[in-house]
Amino acid sequence: MELHNVVVIGSGPAGYTAALYAARANLKPLLIAGAQPGGQLTTTTMVENYPAFPDGIMGPQLMEEMQKQAERFGTRILQREATKVDLGVRPFTVEAEGETFHCRALIIATGASPNLLGLESEQRFMGRGVSTCATCDGYFFKDQEVVVVGGGDSAMEEALYLSKLCSKVTVVHRRDKLRASKIMQERAFANSKVAFEWQGRITEILGDEATGVKGVRLKNLETEKQTDLPINGVFIAIGHSPNTALFRGQLRMDDLGYIVTENGTKTSVPGVFACGDVQDHVYRQAVTAAGSGCMAAMDVERFLETEGG
Ligand code: NAP
Repeated sequence: MELHNVVVIGSGPAGYTAALYAARANLKPLLIAGAQPGGQLTTTTMVENYPAFPDGIMGPQLMEEMQKQAERFGTRILQREATKVDLGVRPFTVEAEGETFHCRALIIATGASPNLLGLESEQRFMGRGVSTCATCDGYFFKDQEVVVVGGGDSAMEEALYLSKLCSKVTVVHRRDKLRASKIMQERAFANSKVAFEWQGRITEILGDEATGVKGVRLKNLETEKQTDLPINGVFIAIGHSPNTALFRGQLRMDDLGYIVTENGTKTSVPGVFACGDVQDHVYRQAVTAAGSGCMAAMDVERFLETEGG
């Protein structure tokens, strides 16, 4: 039986950074890339807020560079999805499409996935006018009109952020009351650039692939009336779901299903560490994910030195 020092599950900024640091510490990590190699950044276009790229870098390219850097120091990358884990005994076991891997320590970097509306047109325009991240893509809609879908804190935060760039932001919410905290609601209501479309559902995103989004078709859920709203961007902020199904029942999670970490990246099972969006629903940035990936690798190093794994 081959015993790995550390297996990393996930290949976003957290996973690759964890692997890079673990590899440089001579731990010869095995990284299981998962269902979406490169993670959420592969679905974005230009990343303009990752430090050291003053002209920006395309999301997929940034992830390729991170992969290369992790591999350069000896990370073995497996383009497979982890399908089962057993964290009850050490060494831990991770199954990936039929093969079982044993490890002394495990780093979970499986990220989170934005919830989507489920429209065909939403898929078609993803990255071409439809976005799930205002901080990433808002700048492309400078002085233009956009909509934000959702009524929670994320939607308000996105709307307020976009109001600094865009000429108008219309929040489309399916009810007549927001879910967001009072303070966020107040800020949004007080902002003259933010308008509300209550009891609204987007039934279609309009435009063509060459020129991008031109509007949304809205249905009022009370009156059933349909209207077309001309806008250039759609920001979907209806929550994220952490990719934690694999670990349910084996690790402590919060009410939203995020892995709880303490003292850095430690989970409730000694030897298992979590980094990036799978344990963070507050910051959710590539750079913070990468930072916590570094922390996880250092935590693993310390764990293997002191507890032997
Ligand atoms: P959330 O609180 O779950 O809100 C999701 C919103 O999307 C709700 O208004 C919901 O409508 C709507 N929604 C859900 N599914 C939908 C669908 N299929 N179609 C249309 N609308 C849909 O999620 P969140 O805003 O991402 O916040 C998640 C957590 O992070 C919360 O605890 C929040 O407080 C926290 N957070 C805090 C801050 C902050 O304090 N600055 C910022 C961001 C997030 P309904 O209201 O009808 O259910």
